[in-house]
Amino acid sequence: MSSGFHPSVEQYLETLYDLSEDGETIIQARLAERLKHSAPTVSAVVKKLIGDGDVIKIGRNIQLTEKGLKRAQSVVRKHRLAERLLTDVLGIEWHLVHEEAGLLEHVISDRVEQKILEITGNPTTCPHGNPIPGSQSVNTTGEFRLLSCEARKTYKISRIGEVLESDTEILALLYSFGITPGKNILIKSINFEATHLQDSGLTIQTSKGINTIGVKIAEQLWVT
Ligand SMILES: [Zn+2]
Repeated sequence: MSSGFHPSVEQYLETLYDLSEDGETIIQARLAERLKHSAPTVSAVVKKLIGDGDVIKIGRNIQLTEKGLKRAQSVVRKHRLAERLLTDVLGIEWHLVHEEAGLLEHVISDRVEQKILEITGNPTTCPHGNPIPGSQSVNTTGEFRLLSCEARKTYKISRIGEVLESDTEILALLYSFGITPGKNILIKSINFEATHLQDSGLTIQTSKGINTIGVKIAEQLWVT
C-alpha cells in the first residue's frame, strides 16, 4: 500500500472533510466532539497535521491545505466506495455500512479501489447520498438543510449528513420512515417552538406514512 496505514490521522482528515462539506466552521472543540477524543489528543494530532502540511490554522479555524484535501478526498472516496460495496454487492443493511466502511477505508489500496469502482458501476454517491470525491456529475448546488423548509411543500432528499451516518438507530428510523436519498417528502407541519423538545419537529409524509422527526435530525438532512 503506497500511502501507509495511519488510521488516526486519516480519521481526522476525513472528519475535517465531512465538516467542511457541510459548511461548518472547524475549531478543535468541534473535532473533539465529533471524534469523541480528549482536547489534548486533538491538539496533538492537529499539531502533527500542521507539521505535515495537511492543515493550517487561521485564528482558531482549522482548514485543510491543498495537500491535506487530496489526502482527505482519498480516504473519503474509499469510505464511500466501501459503503457501496457493502450495500450493493454484499447486501449489508443501509444503516449498518457506515461503521463497517470506517474500518475498511484504511486498508483499501488504490488497486482495490479501482476494482470496487468497476464492480459497483462507477457510483457518484455513497448509499446515503454523499458525493464520492473524484466522481463526475455530482451537483450539490441548490441543496439546503431540511431545517429551513416550508410547510405544505414537497422536497427531494439529496443526502444524509455524515453526522447522522454514525448513528445506526437514527439511520434505521429514517429508513423505516422512507426518508432516504432520492425520495420525495411532503412537509405536513412545522413545530419548532414546542415547549417539550420531544414534541418539537417536522411532520413529514412519505410513501411509507406520516412521521415526525426532531430538529437535530432535520438539521442534518439535505434536500432540494
Ligand atoms: Zn454514506
